[in-house]
Amino acid sequence: MVEMNGKKLRDELLIGLREKIDKLDKQLGLAVIQVGNDEASNVYVRQKEKMANELGYKFIHKIFKDNVEQETLLKYIKKLNKDETIDGILVQMPLPKHLDSSIIQNTIDSYKDVDGLTFINAGRLVQGMPALVPCTPKGIVDLLDKYKIKIEGSQVVVIGRSVLVGKPIANLLTNRNASVTICHSKTRNIEIYTKNADIVIVAVGKAKYLKKETIKPGTVIIDVGINRVNGKLHGDVDYDNVSELASYITPVPGGVGPMTVYELMHNVYTAHYLRSKYVKNKK
Ligand code: NAP
Repeated sequence: MVEMNGKKLRDELLIGLREKIDKLDKQLGLAVIQVGNDEASNVYVRQKEKMANELGYKFIHKIFKDNVEQETLLKYIKKLNKDETIDGILVQMPLPKHLDSSIIQNTIDSYKDVDGLTFINAGRLVQGMPALVPCTPKGIVDLLDKYKIKIEGSQVVVIGRSVLVGKPIANLLTNRNASVTICHSKTRNIEIYTKNADIVIVAVGKAKYLKKETIKPGTVIIDVGINRVNGKLHGDVDYDNVSELASYITPVPGGVGPMTVYELMHNVYTAHYLRSKYVKNKK
């Protein structure tokens, strides 16, 4: 069994990203909008800020109170859309229930949508066109490529169908000629699918959900889950048990997580590149 090291790959890829940034004649800028004071969100934003600072990006962290009006948020996003010093805009999820996350996401200029969640980028991904792609799925593909895991022709099972992880990873791998099955909470007998899979990607948000009895020997296991149980981090995969059968497996922490933050930083670069190529020149 080989453990797929997301931290190591992130550090390797950061070297290449730094080289690309050094060649630019401007400082890249990322704005993160947060509503409320959710503890997990605070941790995720701090990780983003740390890496953005290390790369020399301008970083705006705008926090609104829990009871902020939607109109106020939309106005702020529109201001950032016009701000030439900002290349990427991200709204930290989850949002309070009175806010419509779809309207808010889709107010972000699609060329600055570094989470890849606007209808435009999601549609471009489905159609196999160049797009800003959600960070976690992109990180998973980079990990599979780094470990030379065959994607074309492989049977892939994705458990979870969120717009942030499950659906975009299924689209990315379909575009790379894998045969992808998506399972979710209403799927009956998931093991029928997982037992025939070459690659199983688990994004359900339930600690130790995947057991070795449900996979075949030699399966590649990608664990997206981040679950805090009694102060300890667990993935969605029962690691000790499943690693006995897996050929490759991502640990939690240290697998998919570090790749996600890197991909966000890379998306800021890509957003700048696409905007300077397709938008600014047309004005
Ligand atoms: P989500 O929006 O809550 O989606 C969870 C998905 O799992 C849903 O599609 C749900 O099915 C499915 N599901 C729930 N229980 C199930 C069960 N018993 N059997 C089969 N499917 C089940 O979660 P998410 O945003 O995709 O995140 C998933 C996990 O990944 C979380 O632990 C999250 O913290 C983690 N995450 C990690 C990173 C990272 O950087 N490593 C990034 C994003 C998310 P239904 O659609 O039928 O409800």
